[in-house]
Amino acid sequence: MSGRVWLYCPVCNSKTRIQLRADTILENFPLFCPKCKHETVISVKYQKILTLKEPDALTQSR
Ligand SMILES: [Zn+2]
Repeated sequence: MSGRVWLYCPVCNSKTRIQLRADTILENFPLFCPKCKHETVISVKYQKILTLKEPDALTQSR
């Protein structure tokens, strides 16, 4: 069970630099896409990806 998958940006569907193992668990992870420059908060559990924040809200809070 060593299947690793690339994490894709939920906004533009391009490959990010993050790989997910079969047992990777992320919670409220701020995924920043270098391509479309959107930050999307996601949760990942066993390669199932949940988008927590709508990427349309383009609020630059930093
Ligand atoms: Zn993107």
